[in-house]
Amino acid sequence: MSDSERKSRGDALIDGVSVASLTRLFATIVQQSQDAIVVCDANGVITQWNQMATELYGYTAAEATGRSPNFLVPEEYGRDAEESAGDSRDGQQMQQYLTTRQRKDGRLVEVSMTISPIVTDAGQVLGTVALARDISAMMRIQTQLTESEHRMNEAQALAHVGSWDWDLILEFPTWTNELSRIYGYPIDHVPTGEDLFARVHPDDREMLIEKIREAKAGHDNRVEYRIELPTGVTRYVQARHHTRFDEQGEPMEVHGIVLDVTERRHYEDELERLATHDSLTGLPNRRTFDQRFELELARARRDGIHMSLAVIDVDKFKRINDTFGHQAGDQVLARIGALFASQVREDELIARVGGEEFAWILHGADATGAWVAVERARTLIAAEDFHEVGQVTISAGICTLIPGMDQDALYRSADLSLLEAKRSGRNRVVTAPDGLGEPIESRVA
Ligand code: GH3
Ligand code: MG
Ligand code: MG
Repeated sequence: MSDSERKSRGDALIDGVSVASLTRLFATIVQQSQDAIVVCDANGVITQWNQMATELYGYTAAEATGRSPNFLVPEEYGRDAEESAGDSRDGQQMQQYLTTRQRKDGRLVEVSMTISPIVTDAGQVLGTVALARDISAMMRIQTQLTESEHRMNEAQALAHVGSWDWDLILEFPTWTNELSRIYGYPIDHVPTGEDLFARVHPDDREMLIEKIREAKAGHDNRVEYRIELPTGVTRYVQARHHTRFDEQGEPMEVHGIVLDVTERRHYEDELERLATHDSLTGLPNRRTFDQRFELELARARRDGIHMSLAVIDVDKFKRINDTFGHQAGDQVLARIGALFASQVREDELIARVGGEEFAWILHGADATGAWVAVERARTLIAAEDFHEVGQVTISAGICTLIPGMDQDALYRSADLSLLEAKRSGRNRVVTAPDGLGEPIESRVA
């Protein structure tokens, strides 16, 4: 019997196995497959429809066979729109794509579709096999993942918290949008390990590198550091590093949480400033003066260096208030405060210690040095044009620290000199001879 005769009888042999038994085997595989399998003949009519196809599409094999599979395409897609099956029918390549199908009950399902042509060795197209798998659940999870990532990004942005993960096997970091914002990188920035350190303040960088090294070795820790943006802005952050271990107990991944505390830091600075400074003049207040006075005195004693104190009072200030009003008086005080601030060196302190009274700690200044500095300020204020108020003057008493003098004695002596300046005509600076003694130097510009 020739091969063609066998074929026509349906019991041809392939590698010694009959086509009939292969067909039965194939039918079993098709029925048990986890994919919905729909076979069409060369005319595009369904010839085979397995159990999973019934589950996926809701039609029985009897309902589906003999029809074109177009009835599975959702109406809104246009039933003739899907060309892929046609392409495969024409003997073209295998097609793989994601699409939507409509079940018998009307519900839509997302499927991953693979359509292959069935072609003989001679190139004759016998039909198509379409494998479909329901990916609705996967798509749902994907959507939820995207949404939860979105929600995490929003939550992180609200809380000013960024985070990163560092895979210790791949040596590869990933990080969140908020971390990119904190570091001043574009939101879609793809990070490298170096990016975590590059913008860190040079004084903090070594410390951060060390902390992350510790975390990679399995020791959780916390660290505070500064980030310097290319715009010149400094960000303050607090970071926590946590190590995750694999089943063998080897460090596997380091997780970093980075909290942007810049705003909080500014807020704290502002609170601190309000507590330590006078709001009208912006100068340090009495409390700050008292603290610094004690410190400076101890420092001068310990280092054996000069220190002088000037107590300053605005002359006839009551008259300014009475003539021009309290508000004009306030403006004068604010202006005097600014003029003083322009005169003090960085290591000195001038505070508003009372209504129109100021105290100036001149660190390292002997009697002459202190007098020169305070006299310069007096001249400056006397020359200032206070608009409607006209000229405003100050009087000052200076005392220079001598051995054995305490805080109170130094202040009292400077105050006595101030009294002397007032008594002898105002608009002048008077220096005390020593601790509690009478002033020896009194000058008028
Ligand atoms: P002198 O010191 O030259 O002897 O005369 P004076 O007029 O400055 O003396 P006095 O101490 O009697 O007056 C100080 C005035 O300063 C009294 C008070 O109403 C006023 N004053 C105190 N604090 C403030 C303030 O914050 N704003 C204004 N506008 N006035 C103030
Ligand atoms: Mg006064
Ligand atoms: Mg006064």
